[in-house]
Amino acid sequence: MQLVLLGAPGAGKGTQGELLEREFSLVRIASGDLLRSAMAADTQLGRQAKGFVAQGELVPDELVTELVKERLQAPDTRRGFILDGFPRTVTQAQSLDEFLTAAKRGAVTALYLEVKEAILLKRLTGRRICSKCGASFHLSGRPPKQEGLCDTCGGELVQRPDDTKEVIRHRLEVYRRETEPVLAYYEARGLLRRADGNGDLQDIFARVLAALGEDEP
Ligand code: AMP
Repeated sequence: MQLVLLGAPGAGKGTQGELLEREFSLVRIASGDLLRSAMAADTQLGRQAKGFVAQGELVPDELVTELVKERLQAPDTRRGFILDGFPRTVTQAQSLDEFLTAAKRGAVTALYLEVKEAILLKRLTGRRICSKCGASFHLSGRPPKQEGLCDTCGGELVQRPDDTKEVIRHRLEVYRRETEPVLAYYEARGLLRRADGNGDLQDIFARVLAALGEDEP
């Protein structure tokens, strides 16, 4: 399965992506994680991306596409992959198509997680991520077993600097302008599936599996 997860910031792409990763033993590639790692390692690309990420702007297509394509060349993606947060523009979707066609790897399936705006805001403001491994939690929806600490690695949980109210509002505007057209791009090619992303995480996962034509675990 070559899966692209689509949806607004806070739609649950990361959480559902992790569940799918476990269920199907596929690699999950989150462009936001790749960028945060590059920024933490202070690479040239990380330094170029920093200002855009901090302000909730999209990182230029060439930079992020290069990073994702490089990751997709690794052998562990041969069995399939789950892309989370990429593509975010029609140009990125076209580049991904060209890359996969040139590599004779077939088309992707795009899954759109539909979530109400009020829920997006609640999820994003309550989100906390592990400063060490990047795992995602939510103060009320998915609290860690021990307050402030990651269940997986024990790292300190922090709020992402771009999860503040002001930056969130901007990210949602950017999503509507730049990323929503990607839905039409996949729909026109008959590759788009939809799942209701509101509600409880396990219920959403059941709907995700149904949308993908897979049975519940
Ligand atoms: P995310 O973790 O997916 O919410 O991404 C965090 C930030 O990284 C976004 O707000 C963008 O600034 C940047 N970013 C992640 N993926 C992309 C992408 N595909 N295209 C452009 N910018 C991206």
